[in-house]
Amino acid sequence: MTAILDVRNLKVYYRTPMGFVKAVDGVSFDVRKGEVFGIAGESGCGKSTLVHSLILRKPPMIHMGGEAIFKGRDLMKLSKEEERKIKYTELSIIPQYAMNALNPTKKIKDIVWDLAREHGAEDREEVEKLLRERLRMVKLSDKVADMYPVELSGGMRQRATMVVSTLMNPDLLIADEITSALDVTTQRVVLELLHYFMKEGIVKSIIFVTHDLALLDKIADRVMVLYAGKVAEIGPTEEIIDSPAHPYTSLLIESLPKIGVHYKRAKLKGIPGTPISLLNPPKGCRFYPRCPYAMEVCQRVEPGVFSVGDDHIVACHLYGGEKNE
Ligand code: SF4
Ligand code: MG
Repeated sequence: MTAILDVRNLKVYYRTPMGFVKAVDGVSFDVRKGEVFGIAGESGCGKSTLVHSLILRKPPMIHMGGEAIFKGRDLMKLSKEEERKIKYTELSIIPQYAMNALNPTKKIKDIVWDLAREHGAEDREEVEKLLRERLRMVKLSDKVADMYPVELSGGMRQRATMVVSTLMNPDLLIADEITSALDVTTQRVVLELLHYFMKEGIVKSIIFVTHDLALLDKIADRVMVLYAGKVAEIGPTEEIIDSPAHPYTSLLIESLPKIGVHYKRAKLKGIPGTPISLLNPPKGCRFYPRCPYAMEVCQRVEPGVFSVGDDHIVACHLYGGEKNE
């Protein structure tokens, strides 16, 4: 599968009065056409920073190095104007608090028309027709187009936001923790919708960000586990869940309650210790203070990236051998 997004050694820091917070510190991965790519890790691991750095970065977030090639262009080098142009049409983000993301003073159809016009649409009728079609596709009444966001229930607003984010058929859709504030039933509906968007070709690829590995089991083709701003492991979802290679991933999996062979939703918990400060991270492995397998070398030397299977890599000294890149 060809990569739609190729991120190499990306560094995104926050400038603070105490110094730089190294939130994303040399992260590499790719997202392929036709896949759902999951990003997992505890809060503060850099997953939100990573996806929000890809388009319309705002201070205090600073790009410190590396690249993110999206359809042949480096997202880190686009002008604000170019970024605005591709947002929604090529790369769209459903924000973390999607339920409250829509402008409360405007009707859904006006929100959509403003966006479409900004991107060059001229025929309002055509845009509204598409909106009503899509609303019906996600099992909302097309009358929702004439309503204000506050007139909708939380679940309806969530779906309306998903329709707005995908109306212009973006190649890549980023969903940042969109299910964390939802009850289990609404969560299921959201996952089904994402599948549906893929199936219908409305979006080509999805990045699904969550702290909840059990959810990725249901939706992602591949998973990247981040720890303290670094990649711990990337691999096919089944392999990551059934035979995790990184000690951190193993602990995450162990913390998920199991029912039969299925994993129940659970917050990442039960891992002793707290993540290190990203203001002044240690030079060795960032998981060292919490790792049950830590060796002397781990404190001194940052682990390289090793291949542990087909399309499966891990950053840990337990896996010697050939360096992957
Ligand atoms: Fe643990 Fe060492 Fe592997 Fe880090 S490199 S995860 S400290 S064994
Ligand atoms: Mg977040």
